[in-house]
Amino acid sequence: MLSYVTRQDRPAGSALLRWYVVLGCSLMAAILLVPALRLWLYILVACLVLAGLILGIRRHRPVWARPWWLLVGAVGMSMVASLGWAVTITEDELPPYPSIGDLFYCASMGLLTASVYWWVRPGRYRGGLLDAAIALTGGGAVVWVAVAEPLLFGGRFEGAHLAGYLLYVTNDLLILALTVRVVVVTRVRTVAYRMMVGAATVWVVTDTAFYAALFREQGEAAAWIQVGWLSAYLMIGAAALHPSMSRSTGSMPRNAALLTRSRLVAYVVLIVLIAGLDAVRAVAAAPPGHGGRMIVVLCLGCITSVLLIGRLAQLGAALDERAHVDALTGLGNRTVLQNELNRHQPHDRVLMMLDLNGFRDINAAFGHKAGDAVLVESGHRLRASAPSDATVVRLDADAFAVLTRGDDDLLHRLAGRLLPALAEPYPVPGLTSRRVEASVGAVIIPAGESGTTALRDAELALEEARTQGDGLAVFDSGAYAQWRANRDLITELQHAIGTDELSMHYQPIVELATGRIVAAEALLRWFRPDGAPVSPGRFIPLAEQSGDILVIGEWVLGRVCSDLAGLWSGYRLPVTVNVSAHQLRDTGFAARLLDRLRDVGLPGEALIVEITETVLMTTVTDAATTIGQLQQLREHGVRIAIDDFGTGYSSLAYLRELPVDILKMDGSFTSEQIEAGGPREIAFVRTIVDLGRSLDLCTLAEAVETEGQAQRLRELGCHLAQGYHFARPAPVTRLHELLAAQRATSAEAAV
Ligand code: C2E
Ligand code: MG
Ligand code: MG
Repeated sequence: MLSYVTRQDRPAGSALLRWYVVLGCSLMAAILLVPALRLWLYILVACLVLAGLILGIRRHRPVWARPWWLLVGAVGMSMVASLGWAVTITEDELPPYPSIGDLFYCASMGLLTASVYWWVRPGRYRGGLLDAAIALTGGGAVVWVAVAEPLLFGGRFEGAHLAGYLLYVTNDLLILALTVRVVVVTRVRTVAYRMMVGAATVWVVTDTAFYAALFREQGEAAAWIQVGWLSAYLMIGAAALHPSMSRSTGSMPRNAALLTRSRLVAYVVLIVLIAGLDAVRAVAAAPPGHGGRMIVVLCLGCITSVLLIGRLAQLGAALDERAHVDALTGLGNRTVLQNELNRHQPHDRVLMMLDLNGFRDINAAFGHKAGDAVLVESGHRLRASAPSDATVVRLDADAFAVLTRGDDDLLHRLAGRLLPALAEPYPVPGLTSRRVEASVGAVIIPAGESGTTALRDAELALEEARTQGDGLAVFDSGAYAQWRANRDLITELQHAIGTDELSMHYQPIVELATGRIVAAEALLRWFRPDGAPVSPGRFIPLAEQSGDILVIGEWVLGRVCSDLAGLWSGYRLPVTVNVSAHQLRDTGFAARLLDRLRDVGLPGEALIVEITETVLMTTVTDAATTIGQLQQLREHGVRIAIDDFGTGYSSLAYLRELPVDILKMDGSFTSEQIEAGGPREIAFVRTIVDLGRSLDLCTLAEAVETEGQAQRLRELGCHLAQGYHFARPAPVTRLHELLAAQRATSAEAAV
């Protein structure tokens, strides 16, 4: 479909087409100049047109070739007819009527009509019939006066002649009506298409003029009538030779317009024409002095018809408007926005999508009437606050959009006007004291680009604005790419849950004073089917956002408990496990975990739960639940460690609130500088260790990578450490090996 609009017609000046035109014009001139050879020259013209048609079809290979082949048949038949006449005609004797030649001519007319009928693929286009009928009756009126009446009542022809001419005249009317139908239902207007329409029009007009002359007076067809016929013929061949012929038949773009200006003008002209004809005939037929009276009635009738057309046009306009206007707010609708977006503009544009937060609640609490009132008022406010040339539409429910010329700067200024305007109290009963806020997702459409993806982008930004809760979010393509990558990763993770792509690794925790492994941290690992690892630092935050962390967390606890059974019974080794803040907001969390421990016969002491400082960065109710869950665990001997201590939460007050046993100093404090004796770094570590000591907490240093760091931490009085210096996280079997080795060494030492 697109190719019709985008592909340019190649210039008509292909050599072949030029030769065709030159030859055609020469033959036409010869026919006018040498009437004696007319019939033979006509045959040559038919040959030329036939050649043009066949070459054109071969060269341009139209998908829908049927009408072109029918034209080949029509021209071929008429050539045979002419040949027949040329052979039989003599100076003093006309061939009998109907001759074989007439039969061929009849067949030619039939094929021509069939070709126009099959110009468009059947079944593809609805409509157009009414317009064809208007052309048929309107043209019929003219033909009646000019041709049919003199033929039927002139007394010049009868019998087979009369029937034959009536057939030809009717056939011409049919060609006219079918051509009108094609023009009305299709939108394509290529050079070849125009030539075909031109040929049909010239043909019908010339024929009618010829018959009109013939039925009134005997005689040769006038020169201009010869020119008419010949040009119609030649145009058919020229159309076939033009490259655009291949997309000028068959399934062409549909013409969606119901009423166009040019069609209205054509209707009016037709009515005036028919009324004019009527008037002329009425005056001629009326008794002397009475003609004027008849004309008054005719004029009034004509004016009434024209006014009726005007009225219909108004109705069409109203329907058109209805299709583009949102009935509730009177703003434009999605179609209007889409049309605007599709347009390429030479300047940057801003598209904003807005929706009212909690609009559903308003509908539910105050009823749909109140909801509608809020929407109408929002529409007014948007229209009033947006630039006057902006397109403001309601998309659906409480979603609006504003499209206007402008850049990043305007975007922020406009959002700064629209958001407060929408947040003003609404004069709706029950709502006057309630703040209805809006969210805006915006995107900039660069100059020259159509906004095909703009709606989707603005919608994504709107989603972002809603989740961030900060009013405005602007779409940026980098963030979008990231969003898609994250979304894909989460989908993969959801599939990985329950497969062996997920596993647990354990990293030993050592006592700094002795170097003995006294615990281990359970760390989740995700290896893709191809063996590539995905860092938990990447997928855990995503799983927290998507909520999948709850399922993952339960899986982790199940696996850790079963691994822990062996570690505890063999070595009395406790394991620390990372628990997300989301898991702790579930009031059943602690009970379920304690059940698990009981199921594998483990005491609470075997487990340490690691939480980050951020668990308390939530609502008061959730914080209370979290603290309750931790307390419940602690009552059963489970210890609590604060992970990444010193990074998340600036206030120390939570240390008073949270039941804690171990401080896990964040890895960033265990930097190279403490090994080098950097005074600031040492001061931080000392402060944390002192804080731990004064609160009677055990301190643990993370990410210890060198003996120098370990030595310094030992000197500062830190109790525990973990890091690559001691061991990397590894499967539980590796931990068993390390523990077994440790037991062997201590047994040796004891001996
Ligand atoms: P985290 O709990 O602070 O875990 C410590 C991280 O430091 C681990 O990264 C560990 O591999 C890494 N690490 C250990 N020793 C060294 C070292 O010497 N140098 C350096 N540079 N890093 C070291 P990992 O395994 O990538 O885990 C990252 C984070 O993912 C964890 O930080 C934790 O917050 C989260 N996480 C891991 N497993 C789970 C889990 O099962 N559940 C939950 N909720 N979060 C988990
Ligand atoms: Mg941890
Ligand atoms: Mg940590």
